[in-house]
Amino acid sequence: MSNQPGSQSNTVAAAALTFLFLAIVAGMALSSLVPPAVTPATAPQEEFSAARAFEHLKAIARDPHPTGSAANARVRDYLIQQLEQQGLDPQVQRTSIASLVDIFSGPYAAGTIENIAARLKGTASTGVVLLMAHYDSVGAAPGATDDGSGVVTLLEIIRALKSSPPLRNDVIFLFTDGEELGEVGSQGFVSEHPWAKEISAVWNLDSGGSCGAADIDFVNAWAFRSLQKAIRHPLASSIGGELKKLAPLGGDDTLVFDPAKMAIAQASYSGCPYRYHTVRDNLDNIALRSVQHLGLYTLAVVREWGNSNLREIPPLSENIYFVFAGRIISYPVSIARPASLVLIVVYALLVLFAFKRSRLTVRSLGLGILLWLILGFLCAGLTASIWWILKARHLVNFSYSSAYNAETYAVAFVVVSVALGSGLYLLFRRAANGDSLAIGGLFWCLILTAFSSWFAPGTSFLFSWPLGFGLLSLAISFRNHPSNLIWILRLLCAVPAVSLFTLLIGYTILHLAGDPGPSLVVAVVLSVICLAFLAPQFDAITAVGGLRASPIIALVGVGFLAFAIFRSGYDSQHPRPDTIAYWLNGDTGNASWISLDESPDSWTSQFLAGGIVSDTVGIFVSPGGDKVLKSDAPLLPLTPPQVVLLSDSSTASARTLHLRLTSARHSATLWLSVEGATVLEAAIDGKKVPSKMVEPHDKLWGFYYAAPPLQGIELTISFNPFDKPRIILTDQTSGLPEIPGFRTVPRTQEFMPLNYFPAFDSTTLVSKTFTAPQPN
Ligand SMILES: [Zn+2]
Repeated sequence: MSNQPGSQSNTVAAAALTFLFLAIVAGMALSSLVPPAVTPATAPQEEFSAARAFEHLKAIARDPHPTGSAANARVRDYLIQQLEQQGLDPQVQRTSIASLVDIFSGPYAAGTIENIAARLKGTASTGVVLLMAHYDSVGAAPGATDDGSGVVTLLEIIRALKSSPPLRNDVIFLFTDGEELGEVGSQGFVSEHPWAKEISAVWNLDSGGSCGAADIDFVNAWAFRSLQKAIRHPLASSIGGELKKLAPLGGDDTLVFDPAKMAIAQASYSGCPYRYHTVRDNLDNIALRSVQHLGLYTLAVVREWGNSNLREIPPLSENIYFVFAGRIISYPVSIARPASLVLIVVYALLVLFAFKRSRLTVRSLGLGILLWLILGFLCAGLTASIWWILKARHLVNFSYSSAYNAETYAVAFVVVSVALGSGLYLLFRRAANGDSLAIGGLFWCLILTAFSSWFAPGTSFLFSWPLGFGLLSLAISFRNHPSNLIWILRLLCAVPAVSLFTLLIGYTILHLAGDPGPSLVVAVVLSVICLAFLAPQFDAITAVGGLRASPIIALVGVGFLAFAIFRSGYDSQHPRPDTIAYWLNGDTGNASWISLDESPDSWTSQFLAGGIVSDTVGIFVSPGGDKVLKSDAPLLPLTPPQVVLLSDSSTASARTLHLRLTSARHSATLWLSVEGATVLEAAIDGKKVPSKMVEPHDKLWGFYYAAPPLQGIELTISFNPFDKPRIILTDQTSGLPEIPGFRTVPRTQEFMPLNYFPAFDSTTLVSKTFTAPQPN
């Protein structure tokens, strides 16, 4: 705009219009993050109503209901009764099973689980649609969202389907158990249930967080294409699937299904991640709009798939997909690389042309490239260091996953980055023209396009589309005489960048999981990339105010930072997570209080008192042990778990022990690890468990088993014949032990149990080592 003729008032109008237009585009993109309104309970019977679904949630999410617990059985009874009331014939599949996937590169998960499955017959079935959600929760959370929301969505869907014309295909509703243990229930269904072989398409509901719009993950292109026309207000992008491939963040029930044999998709919402797996994932914090979103998706899916010809599902092929202007845009992955090559050629031609027209010099192009590199590193470095300081000074109030004040920090960092971006741009603008700085920005976008097309094609749309339009904008600007039309066209070319990046930055801020640090850096880097795409608009916006605007924007960012710091304490709305457990070492006869916390707090201090030491204990099958805080506890006469040798046989290449593992204390979980031996083969209750473990577990084989029956479980295990295995068995019961003369003060609202995998807090553990006798 700098070269556009015009008066001061023209400049102000252009700046205001540019800013307003970009803000409206950004606002429209962000509206995808708002879930739809709740359909009331009085709505027609064939519709989905989250208000009706909520009535079921009151029964399901009353308290934590992990696999094997009495509360879990109560939820199961409720589901069976509801399914029967809808005229279905629910079946309970009870089995002892181990997960075959080593998801967290941790010990193998196993347990006695009870899945519930019910079938709705179709009129002329061409295949079976499976809709599923898990009905178990973690021990620390009532599980209103995870996965009560999925379970009640399915119940309400069944009711809506029963009130509608029948579907062509059979639909199986599966309520899995043991998902939180590591997909144990769904493994049991896939490996052993006779219905599993009939499945053509899987739709899973499993949400983290506790608010926000629901998004869809497609594993199979058919699932995607058939849904495109059926789904309203979609939120979907192939970025999620790509990130899962790069760094598996954990599991869900779809993992055990074979994507080569069926269509797989799932919907989930995961905003407000600070409530995930905590006591505050409860009825008070359920977001009914999010549940409504799950329901709208699911009803569209089951009607679409339920009436499709499922014999015609084409083979697996991967797609790139994203939402633009409320529509899903998709194309095959194979297009990404050729498209990026075309963009490289177009970029090179435009740069040559700019040189020829003297719009670019080597020096000005160098400055353009340097500007965005410096800005990227500056913003990322600043964010990472401030975050590090904030954590060190305890100004981040961590929950189980994420931190309560992480979103405010994220907004602060993004705003500060925009301030730095505009300031640095104006400084560089003194030495180079606007074209050079824009071409320099597009250079980095080109690198990102090429890189993503080759190594993470699911993310490539994010760079290739804005780049394509950025290059178009540049080409338009090469017309000799600037005009209002050219200005408008160039502004329109900024729409893909603003739309895609605002949505992604907004999504990232609302979904900061784990330690939010890395995601905060990602959010500011995305902001810098978005600014680079907007370079052609910068001259117009910064023509008014100039360098004065940057400090004002920075001040707004600092305001957010101060607000986040102000909100960094813990209180009843933001409870502090902590842990305590009682552990009796049956080998030494020592009893201890143990905690996974960094330091004792005012609640855990009633247990952790006197000589507190940091120690490493080998209970939870982690190589190198688990780091705990430990102090002496009163010794109680608790019976250790037992390993009974049923048989012992040897061949030239292996020695095989057949053992029975029992817990006289009727434990919720058994933990077993094998030291001093290389495990060659293993089976629990006669079913094979993988013997190879993923690093670093290749040195320490083990598993945990949830809800073992009173008579115990059987383990068959073979090693190298000359190994001297030591088998450490720990049984874990829920609740701290009754100690004569010791009155436990319960947690106040300011504290909550920290979820541990699969349970740690307020449990009692007793360990015993079994050494195999000398081989005979
Ligand atoms: Zn879940």
